[in-house]
This record gives sequence, C-alpha cells and structure tokens, in this order.
Amino acid sequence: MPTALPTIVHLDADAFFVSVELALRPELRGKKVAVGGRERGIIASASYEARACGVYTPMPTTRALAVCPDLILLPHEGNYGEVSRRMFDLCETLTPFVQRNSIDEGYLELKPCGLKSIAAIEAAVRGLQARIWDELKIPASMGIATNKLVAQIASKLRKPRGFVMVPPGEEAAFLAPLDVGKLPGVGAKTEEALKARGLRKVADVCALTDREAAAVFGRDWRGMLAMARGEDDRPVETEHEDAKSYSQQETFAADVAAAADIERVTKRMIDELLPKIREDGKRARTLTVKVRYGDFTQETAGRSLPEASDLEAPFYPLVDALLKQAWTKRRPLRLVSVRFSGIEDGPRQLGLFSDDEKRRKLAAVLDKLNKSGGRGGAVVKHGHQLGGKD
Ligand SMILES: [Mg+2]
Repeated sequence: MPTALPTIVHLDADAFFVSVELALRPELRGKKVAVGGRERGIIASASYEARACGVYTPMPTTRALAVCPDLILLPHEGNYGEVSRRMFDLCETLTPFVQRNSIDEGYLELKPCGLKSIAAIEAAVRGLQARIWDELKIPASMGIATNKLVAQIASKLRKPRGFVMVPPGEEAAFLAPLDVGKLPGVGAKTEEALKARGLRKVADVCALTDREAAAVFGRDWRGMLAMARGEDDRPVETEHEDAKSYSQQETFAADVAAAADIERVTKRMIDELLPKIREDGKRARTLTVKVRYGDFTQETAGRSLPEASDLEAPFYPLVDALLKQAWTKRRPLRLVSVRFSGIEDGPRQLGLFSDDEKRRKLAAVLDKLNKSGGRGGAVVKHGHQLGGKD
C-alpha cells in the first residue's frame, strides 16, 4: 500500500523587504538593518541582527531607533512586487500548483510533480531554496508536511533559511512539544492566558477532555483541538482565483491594539498593491479589509466604488469606515489584510472624472519615483492631497 507523502510546502521568505534591499547592497549583510518610513513612522521589516537588538514589526521607527541606535534604516522603496513575482515564478518551475498568499509567503502542492519518495521531495525543495538564493539573493524558509497547517508551522520554526520536513503520520508528535504560541492565531495575550491555565505546550491542549476544551476555547474548541493534533484539509488554491484579486496581509509578531498603527499598516498595503494594479493595466472596484484577533476569530468588511479605479484617491476614504465596520471588538489584532477585487481591464472611461487623467499621470510619475529611489510614502501623501480636491 502506497504511503502518503508530504507534498505541501510552505515557503516563507526571511525578512523579505530587508532581503530585497540587501540583494542590492550586500555590504550591509550581517548588520542591523530595517526597512521603514521615517514619514510613515513604522518598521516594515527588520534583519535578524536588528531583531536580536529588539526591533520588530510594526514598531514605530522612533522606538526602533531608541532601542537600537545603530540601526541602519532604509526607505521602503524597493521593487518588492517584482522580486516576489520572480520568486514565485521559480516555484512554478517546480510545480504549477502555487498559492501566492502574500508578497513573501505561499504554498506549493508537489503532488503533480511525480516525486516518488520523501528523499526526492527533500532534494527538490532544497534545490528550489538554493535557486531562490542563487538567482535572487533572497533567503527563504521551507516547511514541508502533509497539510498546510503543519507546513506553515514548520517553515517558521528554524528561521532564517529554515528547512523542516514533517514525515507523514508524525504531525501530532511534531506539534506536541511546541509552545502553544506556535499555533497560528495564538497571539501573545492568548498564549499568556493559556499558560496561566497550565496549557504551555501543544501537547497540553491535546490532553484536554472535550468538556475542558469547550470551557477554555468556547465555541471554537473543536477547531482548536483539530489544530493542536495537526489536522487540516484545506487544499492549496491555484493561481486562477488569485489572478482576479490583489491582496496582501500583515501578521504581527505581537498583537497590535493602536488604531493609528492598524490604519497605517492598512494604507501601506494599499500603497503597495495599487502600483501593481496600474502596472498590470487593471482597475479594481472593491476593497475588502479583514482583521483577525488573537483568538482566531476574524471579521471582514468590504465596499465597492461606483466605478472601478486604479487610483489611491477613491480608496483612501474607505479605509476608516471599513476598519470601523470590521474591527468591531476593538481588541488587539493579530493580522490585518486588504484585498482588491472586482478587477477589470480594458479602456478606461475617460471624462468620468474631469481630472482623472491628471491624477493618473501624476500617479505614474510617483510610481516611477518610488521605484527609482524616491522617498517611501510619497504616493500616499499625494494620494491624500488629490483626494482632498474632490
Ligand atoms: Mg516572511
């Protein structure tokens, strides 16, 4: 009888924004480097050396410079989208089933590759990891397992340049000795609350009776127990669905409570996605914001424009309303994501707004400036100004 093979890979680039910058400035490798805006005031990515010094994402830049005075701060201006595309293109040389989850993170399904043994899978994934480094100078961590959940936890376990394979049948044993905080969605506060109840390790969660689990986790208890046992049947979703939307998410190292920080992160992701939409000659009609709390629950809010647009100005005014609508509990957040959908192409309807063409030209100039070394955040600033003209 053929044994199951661990065919799901979770790829997670290490300190992606910093790595993209270091690829261009190798002399900074090994130093305390972070990418972030002085204007925007938030750290987007920090090198592992900077993290060791206490810098994390999304820390305000001023605080990062206080805890790590010799931090080398680089503006958020690299060609991140292009490097990300090239990284996932390399993945697609291995398998057509690649789910691009965010700019630096995704899943691969190796089932269709015809690899017949665990050793063959290991060699293929190590080969991909080496190629991403050789060709792009991007370090990436790989987790390999029979499902997405375990692969994701595995990829994050030995960063940077991690390589962790969980053999079939060993999912629960692999998770058992880990801290409960390693489970996706268990933020710092949840972890503390669980530890206060004596639930330090994943094994402690598995040992709960159903009644105890229901008392601790409420209505999510069955999902929580399944997760602690390493069970997950979500398929790797192929590119087709993704092609119809542009999305990005940010998972915080520590839960974030400040509304201003959440709004900044949300707008930054919008800033990163719209240039890509323009570059592809597309327009988007719908903006959706999703927030996730430390206890896995999440809420979503979306709104559509009367006409699709490829400009920042019509979308900015939606952010505040969407966050208010989605973030009802006002508890600290573990993750926030934005998604543009209702993607259209074809000729733009000229004259719908009298100054739309002017805005688009200015946006194109700013996109170019941002790419060629303009200050990060310029698009946002100007986008707001344009929005104010209405
Ligand atoms: Mg990453």
